[in-house]
Amino acid sequence: MGLLKISGGTIYDPINGLDGVVGDVWIRDGRVIEPPRDPGIVPDRVLDARGLVVMPGGIDIHAHIAGPKVNAARKMRPEDHRQAPPVVRGRWHRSGAGGSVPSTFATGYLYAGLGYTTAFDAAVPPLGARHAHEEFHDTPVIDKGFFVLMGNNHYVLQQIARGEYNRLRDFAAWLLGAAKGYAIKLVNPGGVEAWKAVRAGNVTRLDDPVPAFGVTPRQIVQQLARVTMDLQLPHPVHIHCNNLGLPGNWRTTLETMQALAGLRAHLTHIQFHSYGGSLVDLAGGPQAPEAREPFCSRVAELADFVNTHPEITVDVGQVLFGETTSMTGDGPLGYYLHRITGRKWFNADTELEEGCAIVPITYRPSSSIHALQWAIGLEWFLLVKNPWQICMSTDHPNGGAFLAYPQIVHLLMDRDYRRACLAKVHAKVKERCLLADLEREYSLFEIAIITRAAPARILGLKDKGHLGPGASGDVTVYSPSADRTAMFSFPRYVIKAGEIMLDNGEPVTELFGRTLYVQPQFDEAALKDIRRWFEEYYTIQFANYPVDERYLDAGGRRPPA
Ligand SMILES: [Zn+2]
Repeated sequence: MGLLKISGGTIYDPINGLDGVVGDVWIRDGRVIEPPRDPGIVPDRVLDARGLVVMPGGIDIHAHIAGPKVNAARKMRPEDHRQAPPVVRGRWHRSGAGGSVPSTFATGYLYAGLGYTTAFDAAVPPLGARHAHEEFHDTPVIDKGFFVLMGNNHYVLQQIARGEYNRLRDFAAWLLGAAKGYAIKLVNPGGVEAWKAVRAGNVTRLDDPVPAFGVTPRQIVQQLARVTMDLQLPHPVHIHCNNLGLPGNWRTTLETMQALAGLRAHLTHIQFHSYGGSLVDLAGGPQAPEAREPFCSRVAELADFVNTHPEITVDVGQVLFGETTSMTGDGPLGYYLHRITGRKWFNADTELEEGCAIVPITYRPSSSIHALQWAIGLEWFLLVKNPWQICMSTDHPNGGAFLAYPQIVHLLMDRDYRRACLAKVHAKVKERCLLADLEREYSLFEIAIITRAAPARILGLKDKGHLGPGASGDVTVYSPSADRTAMFSFPRYVIKAGEIMLDNGEPVTELFGRTLYVQPQFDEAALKDIRRWFEEYYTIQFANYPVDERYLDAGGRRPPA
């Protein structure tokens, strides 16, 4: 701790309007402060950043890094760990497993190694909250939080079916606080419950009724979007739309955006939801013979909607070529992937709450489908005009591991590199999307927006994603290079809460970040019915369900001496 001065760097801080301005960043006791006016004030430590690029620490708005599903994937894929070099870091010289689903310990250091200091797990069933927090306790460096799955929760569906909006709102508030989660997440709203209720079931249209409840995905989206507004949650409802990955799903995505009717929402891994082609159901047959078209991009239509609706934000879920692990709360999707790839498959249903599925996947540049998925992600980055509406993500590890972020930066900043990559993938890509015609190149300022400032703003994290006074002292210092992959893969310094964590890739201190969560207010009278519900249907006692604050107390934890 103490007083740190990062001196003479070239600063990219979009929230404060700094686009490559040479200056100093001062951090006292973990927070950025105004540069002292008194020249007699001497910092405890000075980092010479002359000629280097200074940005706030990176923020991952959507990844899968903790909880029962991630851990199941680790157990399911020993071959994935064996292929990857072990991650050995820190004074402990403790080893972690790498690969597409790194162990907790490795996850923290691998993020820090890229200059990322905050990450959110996007899909935790409330019953798995304790497990996710325990994994967070063992994930060093980064601040982290998770989103709570609600789009298939029986109590939620029941309140929507009965028109009990206030009870729905109070339950959502209570559930967020009970899980110590950060935001409301919908995964294939209604579809996972249909999968659990009916053999190979799903919902495929926004007005399909969910078995036994009769509510529709449209109602679930609309009601929970309204709940996030009424509870004044920092992050709007985080939506994984219906029909992920299916040809023709762009219509569902567009209808979902339209259904929001002006309410704020974040649509996640939008790449996976932007496909033209004949819509298939999970049994494999085309549903709309009148609309037969080959698998293709429909980003242009969807990006047009985003470009005219500032209340909608997205992250991309970029696909990168290679071996990875798909893991999702979308049970029927996992089954579909298993059927079309023939790879091993894991499914779990979480009582009254959610489901999940895991299937290994290999994205190949020689596959026209995979190459189009890669191109469609890049189209999103290049067609959304306002970078404040879009965040970098791979939906780690679904489109690829977060370790690919430097490569995505390179693809966005360097048109020639992008063209060279496009020339190596399946030739059909050029016919079925616009990527070959897109000239745009991102600037460092725009990269700082989509990896830091925009995710901070969309998540409602006021002290993150910038370097103004009061910001958390999370800073990444890069050595500039025309080879953007190299530049962003290996920061010169990574500073977390004012402490130098990594110096030239070498860890110089050990620390653990905070867990970020919300505790919204609700009407206590709602607890009576929630308690009754637990006593009637749950395998866990109501009193034992909520995670209490002592469980989170990993902030600032240090290794045993
Ligand atoms: Zn995801």
